[in-house]
Amino acid sequence: MMRKFMVAGNWKLHGSESMLKNWMADFVTNDQSAKGIDVALCVPFLYVPQLSDSAPRSLIVGAQDVSAHASGAHTGEISAAMLKDVGAQLVLIGHSERRQHHGEDDALVRAKFKQALAQGLMPIICVGESQQQRENNETFAVIERQLAAVIDLLDADNAGQCLLAYEPIWAIGTGLTASAEQAQEVHQFIRSQLASKDVTMARQIRLLYGGSCKGSNAFELFSMPDVDGGLIGGASLAAEDFVAICRQANKLLDKKQSN
Ligand code: PEP
Repeated sequence: MMRKFMVAGNWKLHGSESMLKNWMADFVTNDQSAKGIDVALCVPFLYVPQLSDSAPRSLIVGAQDVSAHASGAHTGEISAAMLKDVGAQLVLIGHSERRQHHGEDDALVRAKFKQALAQGLMPIICVGESQQQRENNETFAVIERQLAAVIDLLDADNAGQCLLAYEPIWAIGTGLTASAEQAQEVHQFIRSQLASKDVTMARQIRLLYGGSCKGSNAFELFSMPDVDGGLIGGASLAAEDFVAICRQANKLLDKKQSN
């Protein structure tokens, strides 16, 4: 069976009740998810219940972070169980903005990943190098280190319910997209790292590309053998732009099926 694409939208610190209402109306009119791709939207915590109440069954309800703790004296934190309680199904972990600006290190990413797994939330672990690291030829070393924090927690049983997103920091929100070849090179590296632990797990986990992905470049990126979908930031703020990307994923599936 053809592997599905996951196209996840990350709203970051944007949104309001009315924005979500309008987004959903536009999304539902043009819904591409039923056609053979998995589609998720990640909104700020506050809007997760509204997303959960208004999303069609085919739209996976996502949050953008989760506490590393299950419960206790952690003022302001939101636990994985709380996210589940209000309808979340998926959560972003280790986004580069959290790593860069909120002191999130590999140990914290690992702890959050464990919490998500324990509650049956689908985690998207984000990895990626900075411009400087790429220029210093450190891309693979950085990714290897970031993967090492979680790799022993992945296995053939949970890999189908986990996602990894390669997001080169220099491409996030900058309009600079990794070329399809650059994305493939790193995705292949990630897959080989995972395969060195467990070949079945490496085949089952979906690897998403994130970084200025839009309707005009999605098809080429998604055509790469190890790019299983996209994590979309800016272009997910308007349902119309997001749906345009989903259409490209579906177009690719149609092409593969007709071959
Ligand atoms: C992101 O925030 O994860 C992201 C990929 O953003 P953008 O698509 O805007 O580059």
